Amino acid sequence: MTQQVHDLIIVGSGPAGYTAAVYAARANLAPVVFEGSVTAGGALMNTTDVENFPGFPDGIMGPDLMENMRSQAERFGATLIRDDVESLDLTGPIKEVTDSEGTLYRARAVILAMGSAYRELGLTEEKRLSGHGVSWCATCDGAFFRDQDIAVVGGGDSAVEEATFLSRFARSVTMVHRRDQLRASKIMAERARNNPKISFAWNSEVAQLHGEPKLSGVTLRDVQSGQTRELGVTGLFVAIGHVPRSELVIGQVDTDESGYVLVDGRTTATNLPGVFACGDLVDHTYRQAITAAGSGCAASLDAERFLAGIP
Ligand code: FAD
Repeated sequence: MTQQVHDLIIVGSGPAGYTAAVYAARANLAPVVFEGSVTAGGALMNTTDVENFPGFPDGIMGPDLMENMRSQAERFGATLIRDDVESLDLTGPIKEVTDSEGTLYRARAVILAMGSAYRELGLTEEKRLSGHGVSWCATCDGAFFRDQDIAVVGGGDSAVEEATFLSRFARSVTMVHRRDQLRASKIMAERARNNPKISFAWNSEVAQLHGEPKLSGVTLRDVQSGQTRELGVTGLFVAIGHVPRSELVIGQVDTDESGYVLVDGRTTATNLPGVFACGDLVDHTYRQAITAAGSGCAASLDAERFLAGIP
């Protein structure tokens, strides 16, 4: 155990965690940031061009953006630890954080910024083609697919929303869904059915991804007959849900039924004094780098006020 009680520990190194670290370090809180091991840098480490983060008129590669944020936090004195947090005890006035080697760190405040994982299809070529035709975010990547044939996997509200948004750019959008009708709300489903660019591959799942170095097509399998067919698409958007990475704090901080950490109104305060949450870990709706960064800033300011005893 380290004897020191830190002011602030931040768990997570995506745009939310690093932004919180920049603000907290500049406020002299000397934050300790657990970056995670294999996933250090967060979701943008898995992508290529980021064209919608303000301040980069020519775009920036995801890993470069995250390296910039990391160095900015380090420059102001944040301590960055490339390790996973294994457990947290957030209930008392002094919070306890244990790393993967069993070392115990203590702090008066903790910011949770563990992000959320996109559900994957589980196909062998998925990782290789991520950022090369396979995407999880239409808002982020839709504009790269102008006049192309693309597919969206999923049948819920977010899949329909992605397909409808993508139809502004794409030549055609095929919705691939395992059932024979959409799960989306009536109004959303109606909107998709009336969109001339959207068609449907019912009772179907994606069985294989093809293309080198970029996606050029997928094999669809009929879930009833087992028959397969090829679909030529250069973009595949996977919209089958998200998993907030709240597993370590469930039972301590309040979460909703999907596992997103609940915060108080427009603040980042959780139900536990001194524990704040930000980024995709709390966000069902926007899930963008800039919104995560914005809420990381808010979490740091909230933690700063808490530590100063300001209600
Ligand atoms: P994340 O970036 O997910 O970071 C979470 C961090 O928590 C990670 O560093 C992880 O290591 C850490 N962590 C989790 N558990 C632990 C633990 N137990 N111990 C220590 N650390 C832990 N958004 C855009 O605005 N523009 C884009 O172009 C764009 N493209 C995208 C492309 C892809 C392929 C993906 C997947 C997402 C994209 N997004 C884009 C969305 C954007 O990446 C997310 O909204 C954003 O990264 C969320 O930030 P975050 O800090 O909340 O979480």
